[in-house]
Amino acid sequence: MLDNNRLRIAMQKSGRLSNETSKLLKNCGLKINLRQQRLIVFAENMPIDILRVRDDDIPNLIMEGVVDLGIIGKNVLEEEVLNRVSKGYNAKYIILRKLDFGICRLSIAIPINKNYLGLKSLQNTCIATSYPNLLKKYLHQHHIKFKFCILNGSVELAPKVGLSDVICDLVSTGATLEANGIKEVEVIYNSQACLVQRYDKISYFKQKLINKLLTRIKGIIQTKTSKYITLHISSKKLK
Ligand code: ATP
Ligand code: ZN
Repeated sequence: MLDNNRLRIAMQKSGRLSNETSKLLKNCGLKINLRQQRLIVFAENMPIDILRVRDDDIPNLIMEGVVDLGIIGKNVLEEEVLNRVSKGYNAKYIILRKLDFGICRLSIAIPINKNYLGLKSLQNTCIATSYPNLLKKYLHQHHIKFKFCILNGSVELAPKVGLSDVICDLVSTGATLEANGIKEVEVIYNSQACLVQRYDKISYFKQKLINKLLTRIKGIIQTKTSKYITLHISSKKLK
């Protein structure tokens, strides 16, 4: 059983967010060895435990209060929030800070050789996606009726195998879509990684530690986007 007095942070075990997340935690001063295949890693120099899980599990771990903090893409967080709300479960959390990685967008895309005449082209189509809730929210707001088929990976395959001509998937550079003969026609959600805290009350001791980490994270992000300049000038010209 884990010690409840130690701060628990969930991060993606292996995937697009893992490297940047472990770099960030290490830059915050945590001594952790993430090279092992362990699912729980104890920081050697701070009262912090790291849970390494699939990214899709992180929102539930936060909203069920199992972890105090999580680093997760907003796309996955919002998708799970919509899912939980539709089932009547609590879906509360606090975004402490947007992070400078995991930047991508959830977009609708179609085969290059198909015409696109705006959202009305999507009326009564079937759309392949791993994000049914975000897609439903967006298209309902625009009064578009559609069906979806859920694929949990390789969504770009759907047109090739005849599952559906329209897909809704994550895009960063667009290279994967292009390589599969698909073009992006509509951005429905912009996303990036963020640091999320569970909503319910946290002990004074843990909150103090969270604030310390947050100050360090702000500093780390700031130094990446600013330059420190020194120059020599004669004191006569100083004014
Ligand atoms: P897991 O095995 O943990 O479930 P996954 O395959 O679902 O991993 P990844 O492909 O590693 O997830 O993506 C994790 C997150 O990285 C995405 O949810 C998104 O927030 C972000 N991301 C950034 N750029 C991209 C991109 N081009 N394609 C997909 N995800 C991206
Ligand atoms: Zn995932």
